[in-house]
Amino acid sequence: MAKPLIGITVHPDDDPDRSNLDTLVALILRGVEQAGGLPVVIPLGLAEDTLRGLAGRLDGLLLSGGGDVGPERYGDRERHPSLGGVSEARDQTELQLVRWAVRDRQPLFGICRGAQLLNVALGGSLYQDISQHPGAIKHTYGDDALALLAHEVQVAEESTLARVLGQPVVRVNSLHHQGLRALAPGLRVTAVAPDGLAEAVELPDHPYAVAVQWHPECLLDLTEQRALFTALIDAARR
Ligand code: MN
Repeated sequence: MAKPLIGITVHPDDDPDRSNLDTLVALILRGVEQAGGLPVVIPLGLAEDTLRGLAGRLDGLLLSGGGDVGPERYGDRERHPSLGGVSEARDQTELQLVRWAVRDRQPLFGICRGAQLLNVALGGSLYQDISQHPGAIKHTYGDDALALLAHEVQVAEESTLARVLGQPVVRVNSLHHQGLRALAPGLRVTAVAPDGLAEAVELPDHPYAVAVQWHPECLLDLTEQRALFTALIDAARR
């Protein structure tokens, strides 16, 4: 049977955090390949009909991490001082891809920004900075902590995520300075940090739409984290 084709979204060339994000994308490509998928990077700035044609060939979509979603996308007019790496082109491309993936029931996996993007695409909002979340613990670890298991997450019972991870509690890395605020209609929170912040979401009425706030691509030595890549490939094969 042919290996499933997995489209991977990426940051723009001029992203201020480009070198770190390049490293993460390289790890994602490896994760997809090792799980039995054919990884392909989706360029930014394509004409809409080109993007649509490309999306129609994909068996699955993977939203990688990166800069912040433009606050105007979720109705915030003011910008928090810590906001960074906003890319109109990236927001546009990913919001379109997610809407099509939801409508067309295409398997979808979001990482970090990908979880935030999924929430925004479906009508939710974000904390522009995690300091806005009441009682927030530390979630923003530096580039030297890609594989640091920074905090636990509690996984929701009877969720797709619980089935994939196979454990009720997992320790994860934490490289984000934003988080989910108002949850989008139809999304379910399937993992929470000790401070109650959403760390994973999924769409129960979709064949496979899962997103996590951590970076499993930096934790490919761990069976439960590799399983997130395998689960996407398996869903894409169906
Ligand atoms: Mn976290």
